[in-house]
Amino acid sequence: MGRVQSPSSIKLYKQCPRKYYYAYILKLPTADNVHTIRGRIAHEVLEDFFDWNPDQLTSMNAEVLAHARVQELLIAKWTAAHAEVRKVMPEKELEITMFEETLLMLLGWSRKFVSRMRATGAPLPDAFRQLTPERELELVDWDLRCKGVIDAVHHTQAGVDIIDYKTSESQDIQEHTLQLAIYALLYTLKHGRQPRRVGINFLKGDEAYLDVDERLLALARREIEDIHSKTASQDKKDYPRCVSRLCKWSSGQCDFYQVCRPDLGID
Ligand code: SF4
Repeated sequence: MGRVQSPSSIKLYKQCPRKYYYAYILKLPTADNVHTIRGRIAHEVLEDFFDWNPDQLTSMNAEVLAHARVQELLIAKWTAAHAEVRKVMPEKELEITMFEETLLMLLGWSRKFVSRMRATGAPLPDAFRQLTPERELELVDWDLRCKGVIDAVHHTQAGVDIIDYKTSESQDIQEHTLQLAIYALLYTLKHGRQPRRVGINFLKGDEAYLDVDERLLALARREIEDIHSKTASQDKKDYPRCVSRLCKWSSGQCDFYQVCRPDLGID
């Protein structure tokens, strides 16, 4: 059986086939950075937020309790990841800035969640249960040889909405079309029915959605088949370099820059 692809592996190939070769054929290690560590911690907070008994929630105290829960979880996750955090954020000022920024994002998210609970018109403990999504749902399709992990699946009266959380500055959903299309396809194949929408919750902004239709599902299928055909080889020469500003920038460089050395011009 060939390699099982994912939205990340396809994205990496599109960014630079040589980078894919180093990561998925040679399996060279990659390093975490400030954004991957912070993103992981934020995801963990949002996942665990719902493991909570909401019986004490009322319209009066919901916002305070939700904020306190987010804060408590963030401190716990940040502390647990202390070693990794210090590795990527050696300067205390940077760590404080990132912590505060993450807290603000998560508080913004919890404020909106409380509004959504209130908007249901149901008693808040019921609204909490009603709005609790399925979380970290791993979907694999062995025929397609593709997998993905969905952050949140919301079951609404209008249909199923799939959500991915992003902590990035950019809030352009089009940049994530392929990832969302793959989630929609994997969900459809597993459940035999299409989700209604797939979207991104930009934690620094709002939610944005794409409607799921045949065109979106066909895009996912096409791209998955395409990556399988392009990555059957084990030969480095079949994975050309794509030299760009993603090789080296002012504050960092590609994980494989030292093995690749695009600056030497020798392949
Ligand atoms: S250094 Fe540049 S060309 Fe080389 S693998 Fe990384 S992104 Fe690709």
